[in-house]
Amino acid sequence: VTFDLIVTGGHVIDPDQGIDRQLDVGVRFGRIAALGEGLRDQQGETTPSPLIVNAVGAIVVPGLVDLHAHVYPGVCPLTVSADETSSRSGVTTVISAGDAGAHTIEGFKLLSVNQSRTRVLAFLHISTIGLASFPVGESENLQMLDIDAGERAVERFRDIVVGIKVREGAADVVGDNAGLEPLRRAVELGRRVNLPVMVHITGSPAAAGEILGLLRGGDIVTHCYTSVGTGILEEGRVAADVWSARERGVIFDVGHGAGSFDFGVAEAAVREGLWPDTISTDLHSISARIVPDLPTTMSKMLALEMPLEEVIAAVTIRPAQVIGWQDRIGSLREGRVADIAVLDVSQGDGTLTDSFGQARPMRDVVTVRSTIRGGVPWVGPLPHPGVGIAVIAD
Ligand SMILES: [Zn+2]
Repeated sequence: VTFDLIVTGGHVIDPDQGIDRQLDVGVRFGRIAALGEGLRDQQGETTPSPLIVNAVGAIVVPGLVDLHAHVYPGVCPLTVSADETSSRSGVTTVISAGDAGAHTIEGFKLLSVNQSRTRVLAFLHISTIGLASFPVGESENLQMLDIDAGERAVERFRDIVVGIKVREGAADVVGDNAGLEPLRRAVELGRRVNLPVMVHITGSPAAAGEILGLLRGGDIVTHCYTSVGTGILEEGRVAADVWSARERGVIFDVGHGAGSFDFGVAEAAVREGLWPDTISTDLHSISARIVPDLPTTMSKMLALEMPLEEVIAAVTIRPAQVIGWQDRIGSLREGRVADIAVLDVSQGDGTLTDSFGQARPMRDVVTVRSTIRGGVPWVGPLPHPGVGIAVIAD
């Protein structure tokens, strides 16, 4: 086999395949061509010689999947550029959490999906305006929560829409009278188009059981460790309704953000064994000051003693499964698009802070050595290293 690029000497952790050992990763025409030992020696002399990515001392994992971020600059206030934020962070797939609704998803495809090297997918907001009205609540006017319009938009943009988003916040999101009606409509749309619903719970005055009771297995609670609004705890303990939701297959997502990750809540939850299914940033221009990237969010879960393999799964194959893309991303199986993150994991000696300024000592800290998207390393403003690598991307 002739490789265009070889990631050499690293320790591969691929939870999808149960791989946890030192291996090289060979890439050909933008896809994973082989995992094996000594791939560079096997190849011999070729012209051009393959690009070598040195991963000695590092871990090599599938390109990271951020299940909750905000990436629609130019239309939605507070959003960031997927490429600016992902290239440094090992993230090769970003899922926009409701930036676009039925009226703005076409523009989202043109301005965000098509303009990004990062793979960008979307949870379609149940509100036709998406998050473009911020700071005015997108669900204050129920006429904008149009299930039929949402259904038509999903059918037109199935290639990028992987779920439905709704925010069940306080009056600044849903107004005075709406209650849980936004969530009911989102779930009805999700049922019609057979996609999961992601519900934001930060700021909601509703009890956990009221929200969770409306969710189906596979639907997602984001901001699961929030302390703003009712949250998942009841008198300091994980509410009974939370456990029954998890048994039904409801997904618990971190969605760190600027006001949604409380170390105290997380500690109380994990003490009882309520680990997150997925770890995500809720990255936007305000939260970026607090949660700069996904590796930092992973480091916070490591500080809570979540095992490294579980942390890797929660940013690779688990989010891929949540959106039904487990046969396409989140794995280093042969034949997959070569989205790869090379990460250094080392003992940190500082502290990490949550959304509310509470600090905890670092344990292992994740930093990024290389991000490889479709077989091509991200090397700065010029995206292509120019070594004859063809890119075939899903
Ligand atoms: Zn968000």
